[in-house]
Amino acid sequence: MSIILDGKAVAETIKDTVRKEVETTGLNPGLAVVIVGENPASRIYVNSKKKDCAECGIRSEEFALTADAGEEKLLAVINELNNRPDIHGILVQLPLPKGYSEQKVIQAIAPEKDVDAFHLMNVGRIMVGDYAFLPCTPAGVMALLDHYGIDPQGKHCVVVGRSDIVGKPQAMMLLHRHATVTICHSRTPDLGAITRQADILVAAVGKVNLITADMVKPGAVVVDVAMNRDENGKLCGDVDFPGVEPVASYITPVPGGVGPMTRAMLLCNTLASAKAAIDLRA
Ligand code: NAP
Repeated sequence: MSIILDGKAVAETIKDTVRKEVETTGLNPGLAVVIVGENPASRIYVNSKKKDCAECGIRSEEFALTADAGEEKLLAVINELNNRPDIHGILVQLPLPKGYSEQKVIQAIAPEKDVDAFHLMNVGRIMVGDYAFLPCTPAGVMALLDHYGIDPQGKHCVVVGRSDIVGKPQAMMLLHRHATVTICHSRTPDLGAITRQADILVAAVGKVNLITADMVKPGAVVVDVAMNRDENGKLCGDVDFPGVEPVASYITPVPGGVGPMTRAMLLCNTLASAKAAIDLRA
């Protein structure tokens, strides 16, 4: 039997802290959420981000553009938001429709308002460990480990997946916390031989049942970042939860693990940005 890393509950305590800090400091953090086109998944994500903000006393403003608005119009909106002192965080919901360069759009966001931490300036700052923001998903994983007193120092952490938004920053954050880190990806032969060495295993791939019990060292901490749908349309991760749960010491559920932590981290980043803006003016 393992201990469930209850991201839903931990995220609620983080949201409470954010709410209290907004109340007591009198800060008035503002998040701009930019959505382009009619992607139904993006609409769900944007609505939940706005709801989270409302629950914590963070102002959110939505900027909805039609898919055919064009890159120039989108860049003009971002430019306007960059110059608004009452907006502390700018989030452009990805993916963008065809015809938009995501890189160009992300690089147009002022780095000090880039609460997703996707701007190259922020990516670089994470590399050297001197950052203003951390990307929400890997930061959420770190906050969850911290909450349960799981210290990566000296541990062998295996991260499966090397995307720019999850796998790579996750590996870097674990490295900054003095873990020995191995990154695996689609060209890694004999994945199980490596995952079996992990004291802390982070799966961030997007493949149902990729990680089975025989690939996990007994007593390992297993963090499942993925959000997949199984053959019945049910939300699930990369980890075969019923098989792995008895082998692991700690494990995240899907849903209710990393997902709520990701959402909570966006609120923390927006609050941090509002605080930094005050400090700059002081
Ligand atoms: P991604 O950009 O598609 O990256 C997937 C990574 O998995 C790639 O590095 C790929 O390797 C690797 N991979 C693919 N097949 C593999 C295999 N058989 N063995 C080992 N590695 C393999 O995905 P992402 O954006 O990082 O997201 C990963 C998962 O996390 C998805 O399920 C996504 O929905 C989920 N997610 C969840 C949250 C959350 O809040 N919980 C946030 C973001 C993402 P190559 O680089 O070699 O192609």
